[in-house]
This record gives sequence, C-alpha cells and structure tokens, in this order.
Amino acid sequence: MQPTTTQLLQKGFYRFKVGRFECISVSDGSYDYDPKLMFSGLPEDKVKEILHHHHIPLDKLTSPYTFLFVDTGEHKILADMGAGTLGPNTGKLVNNLKLAGIRPEDIDTIIITHAHPDHIGGTLNEEGKPNYPNARYIMWKIEWDFWFSEEASKKVDEHLSKIVPTEIFMKIAHGQLGPIKDRIEFITKEIEILPGVSLHFAPGHTPSHLAISFSSEGEELFFTSDTVVFPFLLERPDLVMVFDMMPGIAVHSKRKICDLVAERKALVHAQHFSPFPSLGHIIKKDKGWQWKPYYYQIEGLRSA
Ligand SMILES: [Zn+2]
Repeated sequence: MQPTTTQLLQKGFYRFKVGRFECISVSDGSYDYDPKLMFSGLPEDKVKEILHHHHIPLDKLTSPYTFLFVDTGEHKILADMGAGTLGPNTGKLVNNLKLAGIRPEDIDTIIITHAHPDHIGGTLNEEGKPNYPNARYIMWKIEWDFWFSEEASKKVDEHLSKIVPTEIFMKIAHGQLGPIKDRIEFITKEIEILPGVSLHFAPGHTPSHLAISFSSEGEELFFTSDTVVFPFLLERPDLVMVFDMMPGIAVHSKRKICDLVAERKALVHAQHFSPFPSLGHIIKKDKGWQWKPYYYQIEGLRSA
C-alpha cells in the first residue's frame, strides 16, 4: 500500500523524477504561525472572514518547511538550506538529506532564493562551519546588497517584526551568510545556471526573490520558493502577506510565475505548501489559480 502524506513526512523525504533528474523533497520541519498577524492593512473581521473561508484555524497555521534536492547526473543541487535553529521544530534538513542517502559534502551547488531566515538559517552548523562544505552558492546580487544595507532592518521592522523580531532576521542574515561571502557567485540576470536549471526573477517577497526551474526530457519542475507563501493565496491574486516586503511587486511576480507554471503545466514545489511533500500543480481558476496537491495524482496515496 502507498504511504499517507503523514507517513511521508515522518520519513522526512520523498523521491520523484523530472525527466532524467532525480529529485527529493526534503523536510526541514515546520513552523507554527499566528494567522491573525499575517495580513497587513486588513481589519480584523476581514482577516477572520478570509481564514474562515479557507478553513484555517484562527490561532495556528502550521507551515511545512520543505526544500528541494536535485541530482541532474552531473550536479547535485540544493534549493535553499532550511531554517536551522529558528523554531522548535526546524533544522532537520541535513539529517533528512542523510536519511535519503545524500551526503552534504557531495552537494556542489546551492541556490539561495532569498535571505529570509527560514531559507538560510541552516547555512552553518553549530560550530559555525558550512553545512555544505564543498558547494558553490548562487545568489542574486541585489538580495545580498539589500540585507547588508541599512534599509534592511527598517523594512523588516515595517513588515515582519510582528512575526519574528527584527534582530533575529538581521542576525541570521549576517551571521549565516557573512562567513560564506567568498563562496557566493553573485548573479545579476535571469540565466540558465546549469544545463536544464534556470533562475527566474520573482521579486516582492524580498527585493530579489528567485524561483528556479528544472527541465529534463520535456518535463519541468518549478521551485517557486515563497513567490506565494500559502496555497489559499493563489485564489486571491491581489492578496499579499506581511512576509511580502514589497507588496505591489509581489503581486506582479505572483501573476508572472503562476501564469507561467499553469501554462506550462509544470510540476511545482512550493516551499510552504501543505501537505508534505509540498508538490503539486497550479491551475488557472477564475481570476486566480488553484493548488492541486500531487498526492491526489499518485495512485493510492492518501492525504490522511
Ligand atoms: Zn519561506
């Protein structure tokens, strides 16, 4: 019998293929958010109405933290590095990679989609050494410049400090990324970074947030990262969350990436989407889109 999604999460990883690329969704754990704090500029009754409509409890939204490993045959790539010690139930990525048979020292390429703590908190181990000692790191230049500028703490204060204190954002960005600066290859345009692996500029969530596409033998997978943070936001094209540091631009990127993956019928790995393994399809629906989780498409795989 096929496992349930709960059993998959307990295992910590899920293998699948995209053409000849061997892919693994790997859990870093999860984080509980207070849904009432996640919307900026909306009155409380409107927030409650939205949460109620999407069957989200008022007191807790548990977000999976799921990352992506891809072996192209020539390269072993990791998309983002998890949250490290950010929350009581995060920091499981390295161990779950090992359980899946992947040695962190064998990973040669790490793509950093953006510098929020849940994506870079696992850059270094407890001794302050890189968890992925032999990797080259790829990051958009503007993203680095922003997090190491004075503007960063002001923006975090304005948008995110209700969720996680500003000092923690800044400490993780500087403390985790600072020591690996010499290993980072900074990019400034949308490019195919490796054969079949392309970067897509999707700013708004942060100044230079990225999505990544993986193409092999006519099949395609998009790591959308935090272009859209939760599945219910797909149905509301104009709705953004406090996490989106440049709200107007985030709406534009949401449309660009969602239309692209819907049109191409690409498989989507969205880092915070339930249920694990955070895989599915985004389809066009009404004025927006809808999430079709992958488990519905695997024969016998149940959502319990
Ligand atoms: Zn995130």
